Amino acid sequence: MSIVKIIIAGPRGRMGSEAVKLVTNTEQFELVAVLDHKFDGMMLSDIEGFQSISSVPVYTDIVKCLETIEADVLIDLTTPEVGMYHAKTALEYNVRPVVGTTGFSKGNLDELQQICEEKKLGCIIAPNFAIGAVLMMKFSQMAAKYFNDVEIIEMHHDQKLDAPSGTAVKTAEMISAVRAAKRQGHPNEKETLPGARGAEFDGMHVHSVRLPGLVAHQQVLFGSDGQTLTIRHDSYNRSSFMSGVKVAVESVMKNPSFVYGLENILE
Ligand code: NAP
Repeated sequence: MSIVKIIIAGPRGRMGSEAVKLVTNTEQFELVAVLDHKFDGMMLSDIEGFQSISSVPVYTDIVKCLETIEADVLIDLTTPEVGMYHAKTALEYNVRPVVGTTGFSKGNLDELQQICEEKKLGCIIAPNFAIGAVLMMKFSQMAAKYFNDVEIIEMHHDQKLDAPSGTAVKTAEMISAVRAAKRQGHPNEKETLPGARGAEFDGMHVHSVRLPGLVAHQQVLFGSDGQTLTIRHDSYNRSSFMSGVKVAVESVMKNPSFVYGLENILE
């Protein structure tokens, strides 16, 4: 593969800083610029923690960045509003987005898919880059064919902005595609404390836990007469996501279409 020129949005973030390490330590990748809303016009090496990385300019305005810098891929690890704007703008400039930012709406995904189809350009939106988490979702989908009753409990650090997590939503969608619709629990159940039963997706209940000390964890609990099945995945640090980012960048360079979820590109 020839060198893939990459822009990272959100380089100072917990995910973005790991992505900077991944890109600068991967032989066939080149970090050509970063997008950061605070350090416009500086070099990445001027920012604390990145002193050893030379020749990477910082832009605040993505349009200015894409007018100046030639790139193949934009990795976005920011916030949903910014991430959507970045992804759309990147596509306009024929740069393929690889988006780890979570919280995109169905409308956002449909819009990006349409632009990709018009432009015949690749784009990957991956709510979870951890390969173990993708397997957890796939195994949950398998189990859902045999277990109709399921509750999803996702647990994250207390700085996470969106709830439920993108992974929980994606898991619920994958389960929903194979599970016979069912409203779970007692038909007359009543919440004496609002929210006690969590959010509802197609009759399934989704619970979000936020605590300092956690990173990203999820368990999917299935129950039927006399048995339960628990499928659980834990990410203990953000480097757990980076092998998935690498796979996504390699894939988006080869496949000129819209992909939602890493499970669709894993063999
Ligand atoms: P974080 O530490 O808060 O990082 C977000 C970064 O985005 C911050 O450095 C923030 O800068 C920056 N930012 C905000 N607005 C920006 C803009 N307009 N331009 C450029 N940068 C901007 O969050 P995180 O934990 O890294 O997570 C980032 C995103 O990835 C979230 O949506 C999270 O849910 C998601 N995530 C995805 C995965 C996955 O596997 N797909 C895994 C973990 C997290 P300031 O701090 O200065 O505001």
